[in-house]
Amino acid sequence: MMVVAVVNQKGGVAKTTTTANLGACLAARGHRTLLIDLDPQANLTLGLGLNTADLPYRLSDVLLDADEAPLEGIVRRVGELTLYAAPGHFDLSRAEAMLLPLGGKAFRLKHALEAFTEQHPFDWVLIDCPPSLGTLTQNAIVASSHLLIPTEPKFYSFQGMDTLNKMVVGLAKDLRFRVEVLGVLLTLYDRSTRLSRTIADEIRQRFGDRMFQTVIRRNVRLSEAEIEGRPIILFDRHSRGAADYQALADEVLARTGSAAVSAA
Ligand code: ADP
Ligand code: MG
Repeated sequence: MMVVAVVNQKGGVAKTTTTANLGACLAARGHRTLLIDLDPQANLTLGLGLNTADLPYRLSDVLLDADEAPLEGIVRRVGELTLYAAPGHFDLSRAEAMLLPLGGKAFRLKHALEAFTEQHPFDWVLIDCPPSLGTLTQNAIVASSHLLIPTEPKFYSFQGMDTLNKMVVGLAKDLRFRVEVLGVLLTLYDRSTRLSRTIADEIRQRFGDRMFQTVIRRNVRLSEAEIEGRPIILFDRHSRGAADYQALADEVLARTGSAAVSAA
C-alpha cells in the first residue's frame, strides 16, 4: 500500500486539485484508492461533492480517539470509481490544538489508518494537507510512505521547499520514521509566460530526477470540475487538465513500479 501525503505549506499550489484528480485517475485504472481530507478548509470534501450529513462522527474524532471513532465509520465511496474518501471539516482546526497535550500526537492518523486498512486494504492512500506545517501536516507525513510536493512556478517556491525539507528531515529524525519523496510536481504552469518557463527550468535543475516529467498546465476546466464536485476525468475527459492528470498517474505508477490493475 502506498500512502502519499500531498504536501506544501503554501496555499493555492494545487494540493487539493492534485489529490482529487490523481486519486480519480488511479481509481479509474482499477486501483483501490482512499483520499483523506486533512485540511480544515475541507476543499477536497467540497470539490468531490461529498455528503457529510450522515457521518456518525468526524475526522477530528478519529484523530482524538480512533478506538472510539474508527476511520472506517467516516469513509464513503465517491461516485462509480473504486475511489473512497474520509471527509474533512472546519473543526479539524480545533483538533490541532486538542492533540497538542496528548501523547504521540503525530501518530494519530497513522494508527487510525493502519487499523482501518488492515481490514480494508487499499492500493493507494492520498492525504490532502492543510497549508501549514502544523500537527495535522505532521500526522500526514508520519502516516505516509511517500510525499508528493506540488509547486507553482513562482520565485519564492524554492524557499518554501527548503523549509519543508528541513521540517521533514527533522521530524523523521525525532520520530524515527522513513518517508521518501515520490516527486515534485510543477502545477499551474503557463507556457506562454517567460517567467513560468524560466522558473520551471530552475526548479528542474534544482530537483533533477525528483521532478515529475509531467507538468500540470493551467486549465480552467479543473476549477470548473471542482465547482461541479467531480474529478476532471469524469467532468471533461478531453480537457488538458484530464490529460495532464492521466499522464501524472502513468508516471506515478511507472515510478513506483505498481502493476496496472484491470479496470473494475
Ligand atoms: P491548494 O490545495 O494547494 O491550496 P488548490 O488545489 O485548492 O490548491 O488550487 C487552488 C485554486 O487553483 C483552486 O481554485 C483550483 O481550482 C485552482 N487550480 C488548481 N490547479 C489548477 C490548474 N492546473 N489550472 C487552473 N486552475 C487550477
Ligand atoms: Mg487545499
